[in-house]
Amino acid sequence: MIPQSPCNLCDAREAEEVARLDRHGKPLRTVICRKCGLVWSDPVPSEETLKKFYAQEYRLRYKGISRPTPEHVYRAGRVAAHRFRHLKKMLKPGSMIVDVGSGGGEFVYLMRRLGLDARGVQPHEGYARYAQEELGIPVHLGFVREVRLPPASCHLVTLYHALEHMASPSRVLEHVREWLEPRGWLVIEVPNVEATCQSPGHRFHQAHLYSFNPASLRRLGEKTGFRPHRTDLSPDGGNITAIFAKESLGSIRTEIPGNCERVMGVIRRHTLLRHLASSHPYARPLRKLRGRLQEKRATRRIRDGRELLDAIRSRELPANFH
Ligand SMILES: [Zn+2]
Repeated sequence: MIPQSPCNLCDAREAEEVARLDRHGKPLRTVICRKCGLVWSDPVPSEETLKKFYAQEYRLRYKGISRPTPEHVYRAGRVAAHRFRHLKKMLKPGSMIVDVGSGGGEFVYLMRRLGLDARGVQPHEGYARYAQEELGIPVHLGFVREVRLPPASCHLVTLYHALEHMASPSRVLEHVREWLEPRGWLVIEVPNVEATCQSPGHRFHQAHLYSFNPASLRRLGEKTGFRPHRTDLSPDGGNITAIFAKESLGSIRTEIPGNCERVMGVIRRHTLLRHLASSHPYARPLRKLRGRLQEKRATRRIRDGRELLDAIRSRELPANFH
C-alpha cells in the first residue's frame, strides 16, 4: 500500500498496514515501512496541527491545569536518579544539558542540584509551570523546534519518551544537533515496538506517532549526524535507550533490509494466548502495585516537590559526581 505520509527515516512510500485500532479500540491506522521497518500512525499530523491541538488543550486546561501530584514527582524523581546513574560517565560539572520533554522537571532539578547547567523543554502547560514555579528551574514552555540556543553550546541533549510524539523525528534530531558541541552526547529513550511485556492490543497509542525498534532508532541517529555509542533495552524489553555522539558519518543508507519482516514477525507472534502464557500479565501488575505502595509511603509526610527530590538525592545520588 502507499501511505499518506512518506517514511520519516528512508523517505519510501511503500508500507504495510500493521493495525487499525489503538489500545483503546479507537480507529488508528498504523503502518510499517517495507524498506526500513519504521512504524508510524498514517497520516502523521502536521506540526501545525499538533501545535493547534496542544494550544487548544492548553486553553481547555487553563482553569484546571493538571499538575504532577507528589506521587508523580516521587516516581519521576526515582526514574531521574536511575537516568543519572546511566549517564554519569558522560557528564562534566557545569556543562549544559537540555532535557527535551522534561515532564514535571524532576531530572532537570536533580541535575542542577549536582552542579550541571540543566534546563528543560515541555509543551504541557501544567507540567512546565510546575517545574518553573514549584521546582524553580528553567523550562521552555513549548516545542523543541522553537528553542534557539547558541550553536555548539550544549554537552548533552536527552529525549526521554519524547521523540515518538513528534511529527518529524528526523527534523527534531537535526535541530538539536545544532545545539551540541562536537562529540556532544544525545540520549534517546522510546518504547520498543518489539516489546512483548504488554498485552498485544496495547501496542499502539494515539499520542505515539512513531514506533521504533533498536535498528530503526540507531539508523535515524546515523542519518541525522550521530554515531551510535550504545543501545540498551529495559529489563522487561519495553523501552530502548540509545546513546549517540555527535559525529557526521557522511551519507548513510537509510534502508534496513529485513527489518520490516523482523518487526512484523515479532508483532504476529505476540498473540493474546502467548501473552497469557508468559509471566508478564502477572508480574507487571504486582510490580506496579509495589511501586504505588512505596510512593504512598514516601509521600505520606512529605508533599513538597523539592523536599521529595532532595530526599531522593541524598539517598540515591552522590554529593557531587566527579
Ligand atoms: Zn522507511
